[in-house]
Amino acid sequence: MQSLPQLVAFDEETTFFADLIIPVPIPKLFTYRVPRDMVERLKVGARVIVPFGKNRVYTAVVGRIHHQPPNTYQAKYILELLDEYPLVTGYQLELFSWMAEYYLCNIGDVLNVALPSGLKITSQSKVQYNPDFDYPELLTDDEVRLLDELKKHSALSYEELGRLVGETNVPTTIKSLVGKRAVIVFDEVREKYVPKMVRKVRLTAHYENREQILALINGLEKLPKQQEVIMKYLSYIPVLNNPALNRKGLDKTILNQDDELSQSSLQTLIKNQIFETFEVIVPRFGDEDMQSVEVKLTEIQQRACNQVLSAFTEKDIVLLHGITGSGKTEVYINLIQNALESGSQVLYLLPEIALTTQIVVRLRKVFGDKMGIYHSKFSDNERVEVWKGIVDGQYQFVVGVRSAVFLPFDNLGLIIVDEEHETSYKQHDPAPRYHARDVAMMIAHWQKAKVLLGSATPSIESYYHAQQGRYGFVELLERYGDAMLPDIVLVNTRLEKQQRKMKNEFSSVLLDQLQQNLERGEQSILFQNRRGYSPYLQCEDCEWTGRCPNCDVSLTYHMRDAELRCHYCGHKDPVPKSCPACGSYKVRTIGFGTEKLEDQLQIVFPEARIQRMDLDTTRAKNAYQQIISEFEGGNVDILVGTQMISKGLDFGNVSLVGIFDSDRMIHYPEFRAIERAFQMITQVSGRAGRRADRRGKVLIQTSNPQQAVLQKILENDYKGLFEEEIVERENYNYPPFSRLIKLTVRHAEQRVSQQAAERLVAQLTEKLGEARVLGPEVPLVERIRNQYLYTVLIKLERSISPKAAKVFILEKINELLSDKGLKAVTVVADVDCL
Ligand code: ADP
Ligand code: ZN
Ligand code: ZN
Repeated sequence: MQSLPQLVAFDEETTFFADLIIPVPIPKLFTYRVPRDMVERLKVGARVIVPFGKNRVYTAVVGRIHHQPPNTYQAKYILELLDEYPLVTGYQLELFSWMAEYYLCNIGDVLNVALPSGLKITSQSKVQYNPDFDYPELLTDDEVRLLDELKKHSALSYEELGRLVGETNVPTTIKSLVGKRAVIVFDEVREKYVPKMVRKVRLTAHYENREQILALINGLEKLPKQQEVIMKYLSYIPVLNNPALNRKGLDKTILNQDDELSQSSLQTLIKNQIFETFEVIVPRFGDEDMQSVEVKLTEIQQRACNQVLSAFTEKDIVLLHGITGSGKTEVYINLIQNALESGSQVLYLLPEIALTTQIVVRLRKVFGDKMGIYHSKFSDNERVEVWKGIVDGQYQFVVGVRSAVFLPFDNLGLIIVDEEHETSYKQHDPAPRYHARDVAMMIAHWQKAKVLLGSATPSIESYYHAQQGRYGFVELLERYGDAMLPDIVLVNTRLEKQQRKMKNEFSSVLLDQLQQNLERGEQSILFQNRRGYSPYLQCEDCEWTGRCPNCDVSLTYHMRDAELRCHYCGHKDPVPKSCPACGSYKVRTIGFGTEKLEDQLQIVFPEARIQRMDLDTTRAKNAYQQIISEFEGGNVDILVGTQMISKGLDFGNVSLVGIFDSDRMIHYPEFRAIERAFQMITQVSGRAGRRADRRGKVLIQTSNPQQAVLQKILENDYKGLFEEEIVERENYNYPPFSRLIKLTVRHAEQRVSQQAAERLVAQLTEKLGEARVLGPEVPLVERIRNQYLYTVLIKLERSISPKAAKVFILEKINELLSDKGLKAVTVVADVDCL
């Protein structure tokens, strides 16, 4: 029999293949062929560029290099090698596959989230014609066609090119064009480092002296808004006293932020050459006042520190229960220094929002530029800098948010998980739905590092493990410097309502205290964990309420923007002038959010300077820091906010905290509601009275002051709360006594979704048994983005290894998804769901 000619010459010994992790949701590695000239340089953990699917290119990471060709498909060639040195460590590769297995997702999903996009090139890489190219005779027909398209455009992505030229294998053609220097491919990795610029304003030179300024202010008597802008500028930059200060100028956004009127006044002032704008380069990680400071621990803090160190000799994980204001940060700093001195790396994890504040400034003062900061609000440039800085050894210490667990450490000695109870450590979307605290423990285990969990209100799980002796346990139960915990008072709103003492949402007690605080020039914080003006609009005549067309929820009324918004999918409607159902004009708001509080407050205290901090006021890049520094600088009397204000803020002048809607938090239909309510209220309360000379006050408005959890909060009795909660958890077999896996089945038709969920339950029950599989259930919000949801909850005992169960669950999910009768059904798996 005649043998067929081999398509590609093939030699066992000298031909190399690489298994690659590609950031796509497909559950396997892909084998590619290594070009001969790349063999020497290619290393496990390096990034490469490969063609994938039709006309797409991806950045992939080399997982394994070997000699076996794939037997079901012909391996394509790797196009390009991006790193001479691996950018991903062996530990990370191990972590990625562990996470895929543990969190029931694909390794590509993990890579996709792990790599900052600055290190990924997808089909969005752009190709550009090289104007210096002048060897057209070298080109093939395919190349000519492609080049012709490129000449017509400034730059095109691989995908756009694919669409324009049709069938040809675009990545390969581009590769050969690159070789002939006919085109330039550019991507984020090779993009130049872009310095960070800030736009500032200052008075023009003419007004740089006292007389001119005073004359200017007098001259603007009839234009109070413009006068106001100038006064505000002078309040930040006291040019009247020291004209030289004017040169430095003021961040333009500070003058701009109030309202449109002041914006247009500023514009006019600039047009009239009273103000001028200019740009300056600022250091990316703001290193003003960088003198390093010595930390002197108090005796109690020192003892806690020693206890942690000695606990580490026996346990790998230690829980530090330190009340708010006890100076946990100081203890951390000490331990970090200790670990760094011994030559190991340190990772300090913080919840998202806490990282943007004072804590970073404090750490910066101690660790200077040896410290990297990893934050999701940072640009790609910054994230890539940190990643590479760790590989290069520039950063031994990184403070970061949950995704910092993906950084390429290889010699960790200590991981600190601050505010370990925080739910924002769990990623909800997209996969991997990981918990950074738990992942940190896994990483520490591999790298033989220690983990310190810290919190004023530990999660029930962690406290339980500490009690059981699985974790070491250290307490820090006194505030720093004689500051006392605030005096917490429960205000009975039901009673006040009966006595007609409430003014809208405000009890008379709270208004009274706010008044006193204003008179004393002290600051207050009001907490309402709901943004917008009110959660419902309702017609008094026909009961119509505004609902989202895509989700099963009512639309939140945002007065400032005159909009009804869905907080699940972002759908927006204009506010109707009258009831859309019956035409009645009696449409009223039900319930209240931060916007409404702010509004009502301004009516009661017209003189007060009120600021709101929630998702809506902090969308702009620096808005959050801006509000914090305004508040810190004493330019705000009352700060109204959502849970954003509960985290890590440390203001000396706050002596009053008011808490709204505690009842809703407590009665939230969820097994962690009590724990959450305790944590949230205690943390917010902890913002008050951080000064030795004045005890702070916390007022909690509730319709039922007798509720047990409120009593525990009053007495600052975490332990008592824990003891009650843990019994409940055991009785109902919830974590820490079980592990939860939540499967959410989704489909555009309710019937299909339900059918799929029922089938899944039936199949899972077969092997796992009825006690372990609950549901299917209709979740609180049963439709989101036009998809009907059903949830299935799987409870696995702690005593059994979840590994086998997960393999089985995954198998059943895949079976379901491959059923043609259930097309377009999706299943989201959430392991250790919160
Ligand atoms: P926690 O994180 O436990 O709520 P912080 O670390 O924010 O507490 O400390 C509360 C306040 O006390 C901060 O303003 C901090 O600077 C101050 N503080 C705590 N310990 C010390 C210390 N040893 N020396 C100086 N200031 C301290
Ligand atoms: Zn109506
Ligand atoms: Zn919606």
